[in-house]
Amino acid sequence: MNKLKNKMIIVPILTAIMSLSALIFYTYYLPTTKVEKNYSEFVKDLDSNVISNVQINDSSKLTVYLKTGESYLVENPNSPSFKENLLTKGVKVNSSSAAPIQKTIPSVILTISVFSIIYMAVYSGRTSTSNMTVVDGADVKDSEKKGFSFESMAGNEEAKESVQDIVDFLKNPEKYKKYGARLPKGIILYGEPGTGKTLLAKAVAGEAGVPFYAVSGSDFVQMYVGVGAARIRSLFKKARANGKAVIFIDEIDAIGKRRDGGKTSGGNDERDQTLNALLTEMSGFGEQEGIVIMAATNRLDILDSALLRPGRFDRHVEVILPDVNAREKILNLYFKNKPINNIDVRDWANKTTYFSGAKLESLVNEAAILAAKEDSTYITEEHMDKAFSIVIAGHEKNDRSSIRDIDRKITAYHESGHAIVSLIKLPEEKISKVTIIPTTKGAGGYTLTIPEDSAYKTYSYLRKRIMVLLGGRAAEEIIFGIENITTGAYSDISHSTSLAKDMISEYGMGKNLGLLKISSLGDLSNSCGTSVIEECKAMIDELYDETKELLLANIDKLHSMSQHLLSDETLYTEDLHREMSN
Ligand code: ADP
Ligand code: ZN
Repeated sequence: MNKLKNKMIIVPILTAIMSLSALIFYTYYLPTTKVEKNYSEFVKDLDSNVISNVQINDSSKLTVYLKTGESYLVENPNSPSFKENLLTKGVKVNSSSAAPIQKTIPSVILTISVFSIIYMAVYSGRTSTSNMTVVDGADVKDSEKKGFSFESMAGNEEAKESVQDIVDFLKNPEKYKKYGARLPKGIILYGEPGTGKTLLAKAVAGEAGVPFYAVSGSDFVQMYVGVGAARIRSLFKKARANGKAVIFIDEIDAIGKRRDGGKTSGGNDERDQTLNALLTEMSGFGEQEGIVIMAATNRLDILDSALLRPGRFDRHVEVILPDVNAREKILNLYFKNKPINNIDVRDWANKTTYFSGAKLESLVNEAAILAAKEDSTYITEEHMDKAFSIVIAGHEKNDRSSIRDIDRKITAYHESGHAIVSLIKLPEEKISKVTIIPTTKGAGGYTLTIPEDSAYKTYSYLRKRIMVLLGGRAAEEIIFGIENITTGAYSDISHSTSLAKDMISEYGMGKNLGLLKISSLGDLSNSCGTSVIEECKAMIDELYDETKELLLANIDKLHSMSQHLLSDETLYTEDLHREMSN
């Protein structure tokens, strides 16, 4: 569509050239009256009745046409009775001041062409940077025809679950209206590229049977001031005209990046206007209108907080890289309807750690292309092997898929360390999952579901929390030795440090300061610095030793949980409890 538009610019360029040539031709080359006579000769001709007509232009000259067909120019006397005088002598007077038709038509065409060229240049400039579909009627029908549904997406069950109610709301608004429930206006999908964020948004529209409008944030950069804002408005207008709709904004960070420092250099002006237009449109429609805006980004933390406020994009859904089971489902999805022979899908799911859904799709597709090239009856293991090399080589060198096995192993022990300390020390806290699949928050990770009624934190709770945070590094040290500890504990350490500091200097839980709060001491606090640091260090050291002892006492569990993490990549609540009861 974009390419077509780029080609269409030829049309106005051609018409512009043609009309310009016509103008030049009529102005300079068409035989025009060049002979000039003086006024007395004209009067003589007038008296001898040889003049057929006279053309009065705005110019200072008259064109005189003789009955013989000749013509000449003469000075315009500019007297008011002149015309009357000619008319009484039976001479036709032609006083059109307009340019002859031969010039008017090319001029009009030229003007139209020039405007079209400018318009098209601006328009294609802003679409050529992206391969997202530009909003128009055609796209709407397109997505309806393809009929995306949750079936088109394998794995990511949690993400699907989190948008399920949106689909229901779009389908049965009456049901929700009855209870006065409001439809969330904006949902942000975040996660690695190729994990299916666009797919999920399309599936929501498909499942609910509403039109899908897509734009990309990067379409709006490099635009002239005001153009982006105008496009946002027209996008919403179109969606509204349809009643219900899903609007999808890919790469929302391109327009919604955090505006820090208040420093807006020239180029950000347009971005701000676009963002403001988006926020205005979002607050402009009611919750019951049935318009849902879904936006995608690779990183949630770089977005402007204005975007994330309630009533805007207040629901955040993480779309994660698939674990081994999800990869198996995705592979099966793409093998469906393809002739395969003897392909061990589970094995391929195992081999494709850190592959995104998009990469798995391209793996299967490459294999299919290879099979087709060879006219092979089936897609076989060999095709898959070749395709695997192609896909790996085709992607960035520092890609996650090339993460060394040892790194996976370190991550598995690190995360198991956190999990085991947590399960033993804080059994009342529910861990919803532990994974070695990288998330946007860093490599690996475990997800805690903290009970909501824990308003007060006890001294002993805080110490246990610090132990859980230290559990990752402790496991690394126990298994791989002190020389092989990694930077993986970076954020754990910053958390545990600030917890310890707060306990001692803010919550009145330390020895040196007792019940004094450091931030209330003003200038006096400067002298307490060293003693607070020493106390923090002593506490952390003590807790770290305790953590290591705990893990050493449970070393079998540490090994078995890490092994299971290496094979399954994600362990859920039940799996974890099974681990601990063995
Ligand atoms: P994102 O928007 O997160 O960058 P996309 O939704 O554009 O990713 O995904 C690109 C393609 O990858 C999809 O069109 C689909 O073919 C494939 N894909 C990604 N994730 C999945 C998944 N979970 N299940 C099936 N296909 C997927
Ligand atoms: Zn950690």
